[in-house]
Amino acid sequence: MNTIKVHCNSCNRDTDHNIVKEHLVIYEDKKYNTDWGDRYQIISCLGCKTVSFRQDSWYSEALDEGDGDDGVASGTFYPPRNINEHERMLEYHLLPQDLKRIYCETVDALNNRLPTISAIGLRTIVEAICLEQKTKMPNKNDLEEGIYGLADKEYLSKKQADILHKCRLMGNDAAHEIVAPDTDHLDAAIEIVEILLKAIYVIPTLAERIPNRSNNNNNNNNNNNKKRNRNRNRNRKKNRNNNPIS
Ligand SMILES: [Zn+2]
Repeated sequence: MNTIKVHCNSCNRDTDHNIVKEHLVIYEDKKYNTDWGDRYQIISCLGCKTVSFRQDSWYSEALDEGDGDDGVASGTFYPPRNINEHERMLEYHLLPQDLKRIYCETVDALNNRLPTISAIGLRTIVEAICLEQKTKMPNKNDLEEGIYGLADKEYLSKKQADILHKCRLMGNDAAHEIVAPDTDHLDAAIEIVEILLKAIYVIPTLAERIPNRSNNNNNNNNNNNKKRNRNRNRNRKKNRNNNPIS
């Protein structure tokens, strides 16, 4: 029986799965004797029999199959695996449209154990923020200045900027050197990216919804004054009626 180790949502742990059915799409380069392609699998947990779907890609010259150190198979799953699920921040719908899309894709990549795509996503978010906040020039490749510029604007602490700088490096490595970033670094990076998104896009929008206190006080004062005037007029009228001038 052909099996792979995959996280099972029902058993809530990594279990061996039987590959019930597999479909391969293969591409070949005869000149260099290499091949690559996509692998589609229907898999069934050997513990609870739950059936799910896995898709991944391979390349014959790759050093390994891309599975994690723990022997757990990587790829895209349906339904998505709920292991270490990073939930989207509550207010993500308040983000500008493009950032919202990249942010959601990045969280999905993290939850689907796609570290390289996650790192590129995180780097893209940081770069978009730096460009929008004008802490980075569009024609400059180096993000370092942009990230510390965000700290200068007090959207981040210096310490958070240092960690984000590591995230930038991960993004560069992932994009240009095909190095899979460390999961702990990705977890730290997404937390800081969310702090940044909240500080720049979410909190100001929420703050606009809080009624202005000084205006409120003025309105209250005006209302109290009007009430006082009405009472005074009513009393005057009453006094006039009680003491008619003869
Ligand atoms: Zn199971």
